[in-house]
Amino acid sequence: MRVISVWSGAAMAVVVLAALTLSGCDSGSTPAENGQPAAEVDDHSGWWCSGHGVPEEVCTRCDSSLAAEYQQKGDWCEEHSRPESQCFICNPDAEAKFAAQYEAKFGKKPPKPTE
Ligand SMILES: [Zn+2]
Ligand SMILES: [Zn+2]
Repeated sequence: MRVISVWSGAAMAVVVLAALTLSGCDSGSTPAENGQPAAEVDDHSGWWCSGHGVPEEVCTRCDSSLAAEYQQKGDWCEEHSRPESQCFICNPDAEAKFAAQYEAKFGKKPPKPTE
């Protein structure tokens, strides 16, 4: 009996400590403080760039090092500074193509790109 009560006391102390530590962190900086509503449309997969409507791994506007690759292939829209194959302004079909990839994976339409 005595052993059990000692252990539950210790466990309680750990819980209280953890709660204190967590709340201490939270008061420092909450994600909401940077004022980015993007979290609402983010699917949290890290796969999709909800801002640009393409998978992150091909998003030249988030990863500028990808841009040179597309430029070399001649897949580039000078006017809108993005690959022609990702330029939804010049090629509305491209948007549908990427959206279909998203839909196949998540069974729903992607959030509308914000840019
Ligand atoms: Zn992006
Ligand atoms: Zn374009």
